[in-house]
Amino acid sequence: MTAEKAITIDTEKELVSHNEFGTFFGIPQAIFDKVWSGLRTADGNSVAYISMEIGADPDVFHPLLDFLHEQNITDSDDPVVNAFIQKYLHGPRKIPNYSGGLGVLAGDTLKSLADMHIPVLAISLLYREGYFSQFVDSKVGQIDQATHWMPEETPTLFQLHDPQNPDAPLEITVPFFNTQDEPEQIKAQVWMKMEISEELDYFVPEFLIDYKIPSSPPWIREAAEQLYNAKTMVMKANQRRMLGSCALPLMRTLGFTAHTIHLNEQHGVAVSLHLIQRELKKQLGDTFYNTMSEQDILQAVDTVSQRIVYTIHTPVKAGHDRFPRAMYSGINHKVCQRILDLLAEDEEYPGEYNFTALAMRVNRAVNSVSRLHRDVTRRQFPKFADKITAVTNGVHHLTWISENRARVFDNHPELTGWRDNPGIFAELAADVPELSRDLRAAWEKDNIALIDYINTMLTTHRNQMLETWIDPPNYLSRLPETLKLEPGAFTIGFARRFSTYKRADLIFDDISTLAEILTKKNQPVNFVFAGKAHPADEPGKSVLKLILDNQEELYRKSNGLAKLVFIPGYDMLIAKMMVSGVHAWLNSPKRPLEASGTSGMKAAINGAPNISVMDGWWVEGYHDGLTGWKFGYEGPIEDANLSEDPDSLLYGEDSLSFYQLLPEILNLFYNHPDKYMQIAVNNLRFNVPIFNTHRMAAEYVKKYDLKLESKTAASVEAFQQLYQSDSDQ
Ligand SMILES: *Cc1c(COP(=O)(O)O)cnc(C)c1O
Repeated sequence: MTAEKAITIDTEKELVSHNEFGTFFGIPQAIFDKVWSGLRTADGNSVAYISMEIGADPDVFHPLLDFLHEQNITDSDDPVVNAFIQKYLHGPRKIPNYSGGLGVLAGDTLKSLADMHIPVLAISLLYREGYFSQFVDSKVGQIDQATHWMPEETPTLFQLHDPQNPDAPLEITVPFFNTQDEPEQIKAQVWMKMEISEELDYFVPEFLIDYKIPSSPPWIREAAEQLYNAKTMVMKANQRRMLGSCALPLMRTLGFTAHTIHLNEQHGVAVSLHLIQRELKKQLGDTFYNTMSEQDILQAVDTVSQRIVYTIHTPVKAGHDRFPRAMYSGINHKVCQRILDLLAEDEEYPGEYNFTALAMRVNRAVNSVSRLHRDVTRRQFPKFADKITAVTNGVHHLTWISENRARVFDNHPELTGWRDNPGIFAELAADVPELSRDLRAAWEKDNIALIDYINTMLTTHRNQMLETWIDPPNYLSRLPETLKLEPGAFTIGFARRFSTYKRADLIFDDISTLAEILTKKNQPVNFVFAGKAHPADEPGKSVLKLILDNQEELYRKSNGLAKLVFIPGYDMLIAKMMVSGVHAWLNSPKRPLEASGTSGMKAAINGAPNISVMDGWWVEGYHDGLTGWKFGYEGPIEDANLSEDPDSLLYGEDSLSFYQLLPEILNLFYNHPDKYMQIAVNNLRFNVPIFNTHRMAAEYVKKYDLKLESKTAASVEAFQQLYQSDSDQ
């Protein structure tokens, strides 16, 4: 994307900055120093954001690369600068350290915090094998393989150096208890990703901790390899501890002082245990573990709670870490065990520690990720109901609005300033014919780009079949003449992690009925699907396989009108192409298990309407048919069961509701394109101002309780005015 920059940069050399930990590229020295020292103030006026995953691939948002292109900067006579430039222009652009919504939300949040100049640092892990690479075979279904990527070659990533020995990497020391229940000091190296603001005038550093180094013991290296590696329960527990236990040593080594710690999900909650121990030691001295009473512990908990903000992301049980007490006590300091005994009780399974319960207890603010999810969370955790609030998720609009759409917004005077202020869309008049016309043209281009991508993919898979053992995932590739999708045919998109509650296969529950809807009026539809199932999630993988198995039957029964394709290897780039290239976005989870959902927001901010169950964010984004459609069970959450049992997933009822709705949507799309465009414009007016991470981050800033410069404070306040997630309470 292009934008006027707030700062002037005369030569590429001004983009280099140094400090005792290394040489970095992307930010002028003065700004770098200001941001860095802002994270080291004596009063701790900053935030440490801890997340198991961060999704921020440079191939979907990369203001610095855009700047190099705009300025035609292709090399430099300074060899250090030149090396950076070559890496930025030609280096790989994937950082596969995310699995889905949680990570992408973290990335989007940090980008908005950078755009808004909020003093924040982030902490996560570096996974040398990423999450996993997905291949798909029509007979086998999903095939998962380790991802091999090279942090060393990846622009935006920098390995920090040891100030005492600049040729060696910086190492931090993290205290652990090993599997023999003995204390062990583990070393880890540190990578920094710079999340640089749109205007190149601020950044949020993300520290990715790399435990897979030669000096680490095998049990650490294994646990560090892959995100959400849960081959054994101990490995899963260790991965969580690696995240939570590195935070304080990292901050100490780098001199960061953040008083507030934001836990993006409970994975990193071990940091709270360390803080509680530190507090007990401060109050009772070095031998605190011999003398501490329950009263002492609870007092320390109260003190530490003042530092923690916690976001819970799902009502689904698999998202809440529980570990057998017997196992955990074998890898843990006795002090931790006493704290856990007091605070991590699992009401359902007394033999387990529940880390969500711990995170719920130790904080000064806890929030869910939509209004509906707040109400569900209060019912799940009645003890904490009073303090649970809502901060509805958003997406980083500069990342997710397509280039073609962005150009349209740039050229419309009503939208001047939209990049800095997504709130401006609220001021659009209901009827702006030129905008509607230009948006339609941009949408057509994005649709063609997606369809071209799919058609090329179908041919490639077909050719690969001759050389590899992989059977192409799509029926259309296997037909004698590879069949192509037509641009302009109504295109529905669906891309999610394949968890069973998301019900990717819901609309194929009755293929004959679905096919009949299309044949009745001779209306073609492309169904474009993507998404990964966690390698250990067998039910999720079966749903994926079912999608493939339905392709042929659907194609035949609809006389070739329905083309269902699956795009393997879902990532942010595919997501961006899909949300902008489809005509509608499908969301079919079992209510109320989708806490928020963000892919639908990405579609909405491009103007694409959602066809969605009334769950998560859509309860707030749906406006009486003005922005899209709803279907499926909508009853009170008091009566809903949270089970993921196949029998309670409501396939029959909810798919029928979809079939009743679909003819109306097809009619509108094919016969009333102007009305369809009105729905698109309504999405811009109603949904861009709300479902963006600038607004969301501003709501978090309120909870962070920071002292901000007056200009920053004013813009944060303006974003807070756009929407108050919790205001219906
Ligand atoms: C946005 C996004 C998600 C999250 O989508 P949900 O609708 O929240 O399930 C997952 N994966 C990728 C690659 C994304 O871009």
